[in-house]
Amino acid sequence: MIDKIKRFILSKILHKNYIRTGKCKGCGECCSHIYVKHFRHVLKDENEFKKLQYLFKFYSDLEIIDKDELGLIFKCKNLDNETKKCKIHFWRPPICRRYPQEELFLMGGTLSSDCGYKMEPITPFKDVLKKAQKK
Ligand code: SF4
Ligand code: SF4
Repeated sequence: MIDKIKRFILSKILHKNYIRTGKCKGCGECCSHIYVKHFRHVLKDENEFKKLQYLFKFYSDLEIIDKDELGLIFKCKNLDNETKKCKIHFWRPPICRRYPQEELFLMGGTLSSDCGYKMEPITPFKDVLKKAQKK
């Protein structure tokens, strides 16, 4: 029942297409390979990032570690390198609590292969197909 309500809220009110299932295994991968999307683009410019650090507190916790064709790659300073756990887990920002969200895919990202979460379509493909065939 709770699952049905959750799916209803996600699809009909929040207009989402995917639901998060599974749970975090604490591998720390998503905290050590981060892309930052600002409005419609993934950050590629270090100077733009420096300016944004004044606006968003969470960005001050990020350090640039690399860059690829998608954009700058960041690592969070709050990740404990030994344990792979978040050092501020209780106070972690909302964006970390909501991870992963489907926006990740819209910006070209993917879940790491070892991630304990899965993003599944709210409406199974077979139901979408059935609906399309009825039209
Ligand atoms: S604040 Fe914690 S959960 Fe969020 S990215 Fe940093 S290490 Fe990860
Ligand atoms: S990649 Fe997935 S399993 Fe690993 S810490 Fe992030 S959310 Fe948890």
